Amino acid sequence: MTTLLQGTGLHRAYGNTPALRGIDIEIAEGETVAVTGPSGCGKSTLLHCLAGIMRVDSGEVRYRNEDIGRWSEAERSRLRRTEFGVLFQFGQLVPELTAGENVALPLLLAGAKRREAKVVAQRWLDRFGVGELAGKLPGAMSGGEQQRCAVARALVTEPRVLFADEPTGALDVLTGEQVLTGIVRVAREEGMAVVLVTHEAQIAAYADREISLRDGALDPTGLGLRTGA
Ligand code: ADP
Repeated sequence: MTTLLQGTGLHRAYGNTPALRGIDIEIAEGETVAVTGPSGCGKSTLLHCLAGIMRVDSGEVRYRNEDIGRWSEAERSRLRRTEFGVLFQFGQLVPELTAGENVALPLLLAGAKRREAKVVAQRWLDRFGVGELAGKLPGAMSGGEQQRCAVARALVTEPRVLFADEPTGALDVLTGEQVLTGIVRVAREEGMAVVLVTHEAQIAAYADREISLRDGALDPTGLGLRTGA
């Protein structure tokens, strides 16, 4: 399999608190990888560094074999708008915009025409079973509906990698599994890679592979959530 994203010797601290202490990680094209481990072990920091949202103190993040740490903020922000999709625990939809407008937004920012963006946004809302909510404001939707719209918004630009940080953490188990099944299905259909941060075993079980962290390093036991460790 071709390596799409690679982190080598990643270190990152917040003041005197080390969050990443030398992590090596590779994500292949089309692969769904769960990053697991207890709260505070560095999962979110790793995701932010791999997505180019946060700079590492030392080490390299390579995307398609290019060292994105050397890129300017403008170049990295363009990468995030085009090749990467990002999804957090709470969808963070823009409250003043309808679901359809929220999902169309990344396309408009990328230069699409309004009418075309609307059509594509509708298709992605349909794909996640919330097509009939296109005209609604986030405040008038349930948490699960909002998160489905947020997933549609994260995927509407057809990214090559989706970075998802506890994307089902605020949802009940059933809704969470439905949202995740949708993400995994689209990832398989589109050949998209997914970096999925979670502390829940049943969520990690959806991934092709699990990487477990302890105290900012790869878990030396190699035992992840699936083994009950
Ligand atoms: P996880 O996602 O596994 O819960 P994080 O990456 O959020 O872990 O945090 C890793 C470590 O870095 C923890 O010790 C946490 O307290 C610390 N940390 C995270 N964000 C900050 C921040 N903004 N300022 C200071 N310390 C932080």
